[in-house]
Amino acid sequence: MIEGYESCLGRRAIVNRREALDNKKNHKLGMADSWTNGQSFEMSPLSEQSVGESRTLRGGVAKSDITINDPEITVNDPLYAKALVLDDGKTRLAIVTMDAVAIGGICEIPDSFLPRLRKRIEEELHIPGRHVLVNASHTHPPEPILCNEDEQVERTFDAVRRAVDGMTEVTIGSGTGKEDRISMNRNLRMKDGSHWTIRHSNPSPPDDDVVGLGPVDPEIGILRVDRADRVDGPPLAVVYNFACHFLFGDPTGKVTANIPGVASRVLEDYWAGQTMAFFVQGACGDIIDVGFKDFMVPREVETLGQKLGQSTLKAVRAISTATSTLEVLSQTVLFPRRTDSAECIRAKEKERDELVESLRFMTLNFELFQSLHPHGTGGSVSPLAAPYHYLRDTDRMRSDYRSMDELNRTNVARYLENIRTMERLARIQDEIATYQRHQAINAESGESTIEAEIQVLRIADCVLIGAPLEVLTEVSLNVKKASPFAQTFLAAFSNGYMHYGPPVGDYAKGGYEVIECFLAPEWQEVFEQTVGELLSRLEGQKNQ
Ligand SMILES: [Zn+2]
Repeated sequence: MIEGYESCLGRRAIVNRREALDNKKNHKLGMADSWTNGQSFEMSPLSEQSVGESRTLRGGVAKSDITINDPEITVNDPLYAKALVLDDGKTRLAIVTMDAVAIGGICEIPDSFLPRLRKRIEEELHIPGRHVLVNASHTHPPEPILCNEDEQVERTFDAVRRAVDGMTEVTIGSGTGKEDRISMNRNLRMKDGSHWTIRHSNPSPPDDDVVGLGPVDPEIGILRVDRADRVDGPPLAVVYNFACHFLFGDPTGKVTANIPGVASRVLEDYWAGQTMAFFVQGACGDIIDVGFKDFMVPREVETLGQKLGQSTLKAVRAISTATSTLEVLSQTVLFPRRTDSAECIRAKEKERDELVESLRFMTLNFELFQSLHPHGTGGSVSPLAAPYHYLRDTDRMRSDYRSMDELNRTNVARYLENIRTMERLARIQDEIATYQRHQAINAESGESTIEAEIQVLRIADCVLIGAPLEVLTEVSLNVKKASPFAQTFLAAFSNGYMHYGPPVGDYAKGGYEVIECFLAPEWQEVFEQTVGELLSRLEGQKNQ
């Protein structure tokens, strides 16, 4: 690895690795660490500080407000960093959820946040850094929304510290719920086999060209943590994992935790504030809420959040809990960076030039088009005048009006064709800029690969997989299908941020996620293979 390598994404991975190495030296963890290909490592699930006499399962929760404090900015509802700490007497782990866009990379949380947070947790709370999963809800209100960088670390750490301080004996159970009313795949399948992503930065395609939608995963993955002395009482914690982009929280731009904020309140209010609800964002790379591009109704997230909350609540109530053991594995892998950016840019530029060339030979301007459009495309038999004028024409063996109709239809169609071209140009310009951005990120890194942390937590009968990118649904469904665990949940947006992770088959089909991606298609194989190996090892340990 090149020293001084300053890519915002790579630097964090390196810091993590160095910290983990330091951790190995300093804490002399009880289990041998193994290295693979000299490039990846696994943290031991053992921490000497957490090895207790018994295997009593204990857990604690706490949260900190991490909202910006600025008189100029209106807050609709506060943003939180929430911490759930679990300890089975052998393994101690923490799940931290944050109302934020991402853990580093593209938002107010800097790349230094995760290493700083984990370092403090390791040093002061004796939880190995790699046992801490930090997930961002990927909420998108206009920034800034968070407290400053030092406060982010301080307050998040403080939530974890208080969760540790408040640990009590617990029981755990897991299960799944279903919510298929609020989300959809935003990748439209087009007649010509390509993909077109529904976005606000460019128009949707012509209606007639759309033939289908990409896959959606309506599963809510749930972990229920009960106080051991109150198994019939309110849960101590509910962790729920669901996949959906939350892009517009408040129509007036107020700071909000968006749909997960509403859903968590549904759960917390139901149990009169005695339960803490943790939203863990899933593989929502290509998933949006169903009202994302509706312009005929006001935007509001309350109903969508309530639906998610109610569906989660229904499933949580059906989960019974028992004592459980915990296991954590973490591995650093090398994802290949894409090498085709220049080629993709050239292809897009060629397409753009051809489209520009086609913008010729049109007679209408916008005002004339508006006047003629209802006539040119309407079903009326007499679009230009009252029917009797057309009848007079017929009686006089003439076709003056019908000829004008014909000409108008042709000109309107030509104008519309140019409008469609303009829509495609707007999209292509956006695509070229995105390719260029990722080309620059990869060039700046000077590396052909990037380190990524894959983390797996087994808690009760479920496994939670932490991945530092916006994984698309198909990849997540593959991982779930291949898993030896019946309940496998994917916490995308965890422990870092590397933009989109689309499936290999999508690269040739276009769509925003494929373009907004700096990884080569082979990343998917590395990811799925690593997850598969880690899960097999967890399964083996469980059966020992
Ligand atoms: Zn996103």
